[in-house]
Amino acid sequence: MTVAMVSGQSMSGEEQTLRQPLFLASAREAQETLRQLLNACDALNHPVFIHDHEFRIRFANQAYLSRAEARLDDILGTPYWRVFPRSEGPVPSCLRALRQGGEEEVEDITTASGETFFCRALAIKDEQGRYLYSVHVLEDVTERRRLEEELRRERALTDATIKCAPGVFYVIDRQYRFVRWNSYLNRITGLSNEVLRKTSSLDIVHPEDRPLIAAKVKEVFRIGYEEAEARLITVDKGVRDFSFTGQRFIANGAIYLAGFGTDITEYKRARNRLEHLATHDRLTGLPNRNLFFDRLQHGLDTAARHGQQLAVLFVDLDNFKLINDSFGHQKGDLLLTRVADNLQACMRKQDTVSRFGGDEFTVIAEDIREAPEDIVAATAERILQEVAVCYDLGGRQATLSASVGIAFYPRDGKDGITLLNCADAAMYRAKEIGKNNYQFFAAEMNTHAAERRVLENELRNGLARGELFLLYQPQVDLRSGRIIGVESLLRWQHPQRGLLLPDEFIPVAEATGLIVPIGEWVLRGVCEQIREWSASGMRLLPVAVNLSPRQFRQQEIVSSIQNILLDNAVAASNLEFELTETCVMESPELATKVLQRLKDMGASLSIDDFGTGYSSLQYLKRFPIDKLKIDSHFISDLATDPEDQAIVSAIITMGHSLNLNVIAEGVETPQQMEFLRINGCDSVQGYYLNRPLSAQRTAELIGLA
Ligand code: C2E
Ligand code: MG
Ligand code: MG
Repeated sequence: MTVAMVSGQSMSGEEQTLRQPLFLASAREAQETLRQLLNACDALNHPVFIHDHEFRIRFANQAYLSRAEARLDDILGTPYWRVFPRSEGPVPSCLRALRQGGEEEVEDITTASGETFFCRALAIKDEQGRYLYSVHVLEDVTERRRLEEELRRERALTDATIKCAPGVFYVIDRQYRFVRWNSYLNRITGLSNEVLRKTSSLDIVHPEDRPLIAAKVKEVFRIGYEEAEARLITVDKGVRDFSFTGQRFIANGAIYLAGFGTDITEYKRARNRLEHLATHDRLTGLPNRNLFFDRLQHGLDTAARHGQQLAVLFVDLDNFKLINDSFGHQKGDLLLTRVADNLQACMRKQDTVSRFGGDEFTVIAEDIREAPEDIVAATAERILQEVAVCYDLGGRQATLSASVGIAFYPRDGKDGITLLNCADAAMYRAKEIGKNNYQFFAAEMNTHAAERRVLENELRNGLARGELFLLYQPQVDLRSGRIIGVESLLRWQHPQRGLLLPDEFIPVAEATGLIVPIGEWVLRGVCEQIREWSASGMRLLPVAVNLSPRQFRQQEIVSSIQNILLDNAVAASNLEFELTETCVMESPELATKVLQRLKDMGASLSIDDFGTGYSSLQYLKRFPIDKLKIDSHFISDLATDPEDQAIVSAIITMGHSLNLNVIAEGVETPQQMEFLRINGCDSVQGYYLNRPLSAQRTAELIGLA
């Protein structure tokens, strides 16, 4: 171990050197102490060196020497900056120490090789203030400075990020106090830093959301991370929606929450709009089918919990198609919104009205405890009344009615689908018995509904597979006894059920719309038959074709008929169209127009089943029709029932007064025929004369021209 001989410029000899710094008893002792001190320096890991006023090295410890890669003897007296750390001249702290003395000067020195040393320099002066030496302790802080720099950069980056963050950044402590935040928070809350410093972070949250946020903050402190949505109170006392994430962290022994909040007001608005679109009907704004099922499920759960009943009402507007056809779709839509408003207005607040589709509405009547049928019947009656008002559609009046089916939980079904199907079946029943009424579900309706579905499928297939065929029933002139026409009547040869009559499948076809393709098929069949008969030289007579109400309501009915006639090169004068009274009276104005166009084509027109519906004489006069067909109901008891006799003779008289031909159908006996002949009826159709016949038999019966 080498101990340097420390000597100062302004002092001479060992005594002087050792006199001042340590208050020691003797020079020897001082000498010894200094030696030990320097020895101790040698044991230090930090480089230590001492230089005189000319910066010449007077002492250096082992750590210094190994850094400098030198031996002490070789560097003693050399200016330290030429040895280590190398520089152009003495480092500033050295100079400052020299100037001030007695006070420690500190400085980072970076060497040419990129190491950084934290340098502490202490100048030692004598009593007269003369500079003796400087002691330098160097500490290698390369790594620490690098980390500090990294930390600083990181911090700057974080600061910049936080500053430009598109959201609220904040740090809060366990007492919800703000510790740090970005200017976004100032902007959104309108609160200054001073105010924020004194504000609890909960105070800027909407009061309704505070309990949730307080709980979430506790969770963050407990488990480390949480997410939440809450509203913040904004500068203008408004609110905005934020989505927050909070993360726990510990700094300086204290625990904090760092949070970030994104403004999701617009997103939420869009989301709500989408949600509304997905769950509500666009036209009426009512809940749609999806929401209906949701609410129904919810209602069923509640009812099950509290042992209550619940009713589902299925409301279907009667003949709404007609409104669409005669007023146009826009007016139809307008009408639907009015109906929706009326329905909603007449409901109790716990009831849900939804638009199920087209002209179908559903109502969930909840919380029914006693006399459920009475309560719901009252609701159904209100619905019928509310729907049946007169609607003003831009100057034109429209009247509506509805058919309502009702099903109860738990009596008729335990789940939503079952209940809805039951209500639907009951609604069907209401339609069947004349519309504009309500029906409670009864078990047998379901069987009907299921059967109807099966039949519909079979009918669709039957039509495609050619199971349908036509018969023709002659109509006979009462005066001449000659056949003056035939009525085409549809039959279905069902592969399993056998021969089916129209009454067994036409209602299903009518209800499902299948009647439209079936009707076209009939007309084509009739046209082909006319051509065939004509080719075989048969005397051609008008063929009556039945048009169902649904067919008649088709907007394209006239053009569709025209096309079929053209396709088959058959003149309209060969045809007579039969329409029921109810069918034309549903919308007399529109019917008049359609009838006129058919008439203009050259076809004859007759009112079928006359007497069963309600006919306004005023309209009857205006319809361009040729014939009235007295319904068979009035004929069956005609021989014995004076009332029927009175009605039939009145119809004949009235018909003639309107210049219409009158034909009676369902004539089964000579007595009936006799009565009709005496009372001036023009023609008859019935089993007494002919059953419906095959085309072949018809041709044989009618004979050649
Ligand atoms: P409708 O037009 O009033 O036809 C007369 C019905 O009375 C026919 O029944 C016929 O077979 C039946 N009939 C004829 N003479 C007698 C009789 O002396 N006694 C009795 N009891 N009945 C008699 P059908 O063929 O079963 O047709 C029933 C209804 O089905 C028709 O009533 C008509 O409304 C409808 N229909 C038949 N074919 C078609 C069609 O091609 N298209 C449409 N849309 N409806 C049709
Ligand atoms: Mg008919
Ligand atoms: Mg008839």
